[in-house]
Amino acid sequence: MSRFLSGALRQQVPYVPGEQPHQRRYIKLNTNESPYPPAPGVLRAVGVEAADLRLYPDPEARELKAALAARHHVGPENIFVGNGSDEVLNFAFLAFASDGRGAAFADITYGFYPVFCGLYHIPTRIVPLRENFTLDPEDCYGLGRTIVLANPNAPTGLALSRAQVEEIVKANQDSVVIVDEAYVDFGGESCVELTRRHGNLLVVQTFSKSRSLAGARLGFAVGNQELIADLETIKFSTNPYNVNRLTLRAGAEALAEQHYYDKCCQAIMETRDRTAEQLRGMGFTVLPSRTNFLFVRREGLDGAAIYRGLKDQGVLVRHFDQARIQNFVRVTVGTPEQMNVFLEKLRELL
Ligand code: PMP
Repeated sequence: MSRFLSGALRQQVPYVPGEQPHQRRYIKLNTNESPYPPAPGVLRAVGVEAADLRLYPDPEARELKAALAARHHVGPENIFVGNGSDEVLNFAFLAFASDGRGAAFADITYGFYPVFCGLYHIPTRIVPLRENFTLDPEDCYGLGRTIVLANPNAPTGLALSRAQVEEIVKANQDSVVIVDEAYVDFGGESCVELTRRHGNLLVVQTFSKSRSLAGARLGFAVGNQELIADLETIKFSTNPYNVNRLTLRAGAEALAEQHYYDKCCQAIMETRDRTAEQLRGMGFTVLPSRTNFLFVRREGLDGAAIYRGLKDQGVLVRHFDQARIQNFVRVTVGTPEQMNVFLEKLRELL
């Protein structure tokens, strides 16, 4: 910390992203990326777009917003796009939870939420998940503060139904409910359609997982036009060109290649379920996943030891040094071949 850092930031604990190794080649199952490349049309379109890189991107992202609006049966005024869903969430915490309003989220959920709360000095209420890591929706009724639900949740992989989320939204009419649907395309129930009925619901999605664009950084939110306008105020007060030209192009093209991505998601879900079965056969407890990762543990085994053992064997998974989940590791679902190597190395380790 330099002596010049603002006092307000002196306590800030930043988010620690999963490892992105650049020397050794690993089977990389640690940050929930897609094992499949972007659709061929996306790569072609980005190549063509590169010729225009001297020009700023459209700060209003009109083409991408129109495509997203058409896909989700809302208007372009109901869409906000950001530099990854992390940026969208960042803006949403600033817009809807800062200034004393407060936020609430589960004890076991996406680790970035508490970081935003630290950054904006947001009073936080933690909602403990049940013993089996499910959320009791009633624990989120009438909380009088902004509620953030990762649904499906990370790193557990468990999901609430759309009806359960709607009950939470209805029971918090005077607060914004942010539903982070980063993993929804792997078997979850999206709440996007509920945004047309509920002005206090903001749904956030990403192109990083199911659309193979983690490196392009593209996320978006769907919600009531007033909520979206609030996010635009923050964007135009910080970085009007928050989504670069290549990424805008890649995003619009990806939406035109839905068939390709549906096949990728299908393959990932099949590989996930097969891998889960094999892990159960090896004595692991595997939470029922609606995502592109598996959250697993085995009685008597330390999660950190599994993580280290696999890493030595060239397979990267994720371990969280956090109460309640220390014995778990989170394993991204890769290709069938990658999962076979993972299982083989795991067997050797055991
Ligand atoms: N939400 C959740 C629950 C996540 O796991 C992630 C991925 N780390 C994100 C949001 C952010 O994804 P991105 O910024 O790549 O869109």
